Amino acid sequence: MLEINNLNAGIEDKEILRGIDLKVNAGEVHAIMGPNGSGKSTLSSVIAGKEEYEVSGGDILFEGESILEMDADERAHKGVFLSFQYPVEIPGVSVTNFIKTAINQTRKAKGLEDMPASEMLKKIREKSELLEIDRKFLSRSLNEGFSGGEKKRNEIFQMAMLEPKLAILDETDSGLDIDALRIVSNGVNKLRSSDNAVIVITHYQRLLEYIVPDFVHVLVNGKIVKSGGKELALELEEKGYDWVKAETAV
Ligand code: ADP
Ligand code: MG
Ligand code: MG
Repeated sequence: MLEINNLNAGIEDKEILRGIDLKVNAGEVHAIMGPNGSGKSTLSSVIAGKEEYEVSGGDILFEGESILEMDADERAHKGVFLSFQYPVEIPGVSVTNFIKTAINQTRKAKGLEDMPASEMLKKIREKSELLEIDRKFLSRSLNEGFSGGEKKRNEIFQMAMLEPKLAILDETDSGLDIDALRIVSNGVNKLRSSDNAVIVITHYQRLLEYIVPDFVHVLVNGKIVKSGGKELALELEEKGYDWVKAETAV
């Protein structure tokens, strides 16, 4: 589904990612861990196509096709979803109306008509039941006065509605409390399937006790210095990152 080859990228002449290789197949959950400032958020932004980042080498293939020339919207329409680390408040626009618009924009980009209202309602009902989201929440203004947990609930609901092929969840700096942690992990686990893939970016090993990854990658200084199975997350929790740094002499 996703293939990253020798990716070099940065921002304003600052090199941040230095030769990233990563392969993600449908059905897999990958965790990317690493110390603060190692380039985790940069990697997710570059995959999603945020325009402030510049790719200076390598390639990103999504379903076999290079996406480097596509803007963020196009990538989203192809099925790449990046969770919002700093969601904006939109007073007067409800959680439901926001997602309706997003879904219909995606359809429009594919040359499809708006989703019929009855189908939309059915989908909203299905997904909100699956994620145990109540009606009152769906009619609230987007992100206005949302708690940390409610922001996460909204993100996961958007993900459930949009049904992305590749979901990238950058949880790095957001300090998940237990409530938010439970919402995110239950949501992701319910939405996991053999057709989609998830990249979870975190420096909390704790999250990976709930979302059990198939692969764990350690990013240090813009490079993936170690990859392994879920046990690697435990090892990192125990020994910290210095051990990997020393072993790989980055
Ligand atoms: P992580 O998510 O692993 O904490 P980031 O990708 O946020 O790491 O940052 C990697 C490096 O790139 C850091 O040194 C950071 O200061 C720098 N960086 C990230 N975004 C910007 C930006 N918008 N402008 C300048 N430097 C940035
Ligand atoms: Mg950071
Ligand atoms: Mg980050």
